[in-house]
Amino acid sequence: REAKGKMPTYKGLENFRLIDKMGDGAFSNVYKAVDIHTGQRVAVKVVRKYELSASQAGDNKHLNKDFKKKPRVTERANILKEVQIMRGINHPAIVKLLSFSESEEHYFLVLELLEGGELFHQIVKLTYFSENLARHVILQVAHGIHHLHEERGVVHRDIKPENLLFERIPIRPSRAPQSKQFEEDKEDEGEFIPGVGGGGIGRVKIADFGLSKVVWDEQTMTPCGTVGYTAPEIVKDERYSKSVDIINVLTEKVARGYYTFLSPWWDGITASAKDLISHLLCVDPAQRYTIDEFLNHPWCKAAPAPPPPPT
Ligand code: ADP
Ligand code: MG
Repeated sequence: REAKGKMPTYKGLENFRLIDKMGDGAFSNVYKAVDIHTGQRVAVKVVRKYELSASQAGDNKHLNKDFKKKPRVTERANILKEVQIMRGINHPAIVKLLSFSESEEHYFLVLELLEGGELFHQIVKLTYFSENLARHVILQVAHGIHHLHEERGVVHRDIKPENLLFERIPIRPSRAPQSKQFEEDKEDEGEFIPGVGGGGIGRVKIADFGLSKVVWDEQTMTPCGTVGYTAPEIVKDERYSKSVDIINVLTEKVARGYYTFLSPWWDGITASAKDLISHLLCVDPAQRYTIDEFLNHPWCKAAPAPPPPPT
């Protein structure tokens, strides 16, 4: 499955052999790579420093051979902030930054490799997550968020399935949701969850600190900036901004709080799960569950159902 097509080479990244492209963003490319000296497998996020300006990217660019490079000033500040924030964090639910370097043209973030890919792809592939599997995933994410909020004073601000990565590729194959096989296989989800049936997806980790922000000084647990000079509404605002990690507002409907537990898909979901979700989807950030309230909800405390008895 590796070495799909020719990998690019980057000046300044000679210590790594690129194996495969894993992510393709507007500003960054993420590669699976090997450290040629240690043999360690890593992920390398390559971020371009410069962008062609909008006019030069237009139709007439062939007329202008002398492309001027425009520094992406905001991006520069962001990537350095992303690195700065990631550097201070050491938690099992957060992707580790192993090293950082830059060349004239690029920034290179060498990251702990998560082979299992995005939660997003697993949702698409499996179509169905049992409550046990969902709990297994979201509890790890919640502990990561708890660490960011309560111990680092960091809000991530971009929690979504594309930025949540699995350690391993699940062993269960994909299948059609309405098939008989699917109904039977729902039972053996145990193999997905480590400690229940072995194998499985392993850990889930939070990636992509590109939009993250420090809101509290981690030593003093006071708002960043000089508190004595900060207006009350700013302090209040920053305190509330933590709640953005609890909800990812995707649409106008969600923003206004319009949602339903649509039948038949939600019929089999426990009342406890629905109660928790409704507390997370509160439009008013002051009413919305904090990460502590989330972790203390009965649904999060529930032990996974035991695997079915052998027949
Ligand atoms: P962007 O800011 O472009 O969204 P991300 O840091 O989210 O950059 O990386 C883009 C994609 O690359 C992710 O959605 C994921 O698919 C992949 N990726 C990022 N980091 C890793 C990693 N450490 N291990 C495996 N895949 C990764
Ligand atoms: Mg991302």
